[in-house]
Amino acid sequence: MPDERAAALAALAVEIEACRACPLGSQRTQSVPGEGSPNAELLLVGEAPGAHEDAAGRPFVGAAGKLLDLLLNLIGLQRPQVYVLNVVKCRPPENRDPEPTEIAACAGFLERQLALLQPVIIAPLGRHALRAFAPEAKISETHGAPFQGETRQTPAGTTLFPLYHPAAALHNGALRPTLERDMGALARALPAARSTWRVARGGAGEASLSEIEAAAERDQLRLFESEAQ
Ligand code: SF4
Repeated sequence: MPDERAAALAALAVEIEACRACPLGSQRTQSVPGEGSPNAELLLVGEAPGAHEDAAGRPFVGAAGKLLDLLLNLIGLQRPQVYVLNVVKCRPPENRDPEPTEIAACAGFLERQLALLQPVIIAPLGRHALRAFAPEAKISETHGAPFQGETRQTPAGTTLFPLYHPAAALHNGALRPTLERDMGALARALPAARSTWRVARGGAGEASLSEIEAAAERDQLRLFESEAQ
């Protein structure tokens, strides 16, 4: 199952690279479909690729990405153990906000990624990404705790846990301690989120979570092996 999920995500990335369904497709250097462990419990969602991501074809590779890595390290996670993607897969020119029509054109890819990944927690990073899951929510009021209101696109049993965007903490250093506290709160919320996830999936959920945990252990092993080389 995890291998099938990885293959389906890779096939989706090929479709995304070929997509020209909105004007961003002809303006970007390369698409940024997302990356990480197909078995990740934690999915981090940004708004759209920036210049560094557009050049690399990978999400969160600039200064904000480095801070994201540090924040993950705080709770004992490394990037290969989570999955990171954006709501919109191609870079808007000059890093402008994506237009509603562009978000709508790309929504099918996000929907299919969520259906494949079925994460325990989705952490939208910043207000724009949060809007894709909870259009009326404010990041200033909802960050750092499991979201309690109505959501859309969130798979059954998945907990939405909004966080400030790491770039916001780079612009405003006062937000960094908040982000660090919020990451700690996310780690503490994980056991309850796992229970909710299991209940939503019944017996099948138990089976898939065991598969995910086993695969996550394999990912961790690979990580240690690659670091040892
Ligand atoms: S942003 Fe999304 S919909 Fe627009 S071209 Fe890129 S992949 Fe296609």
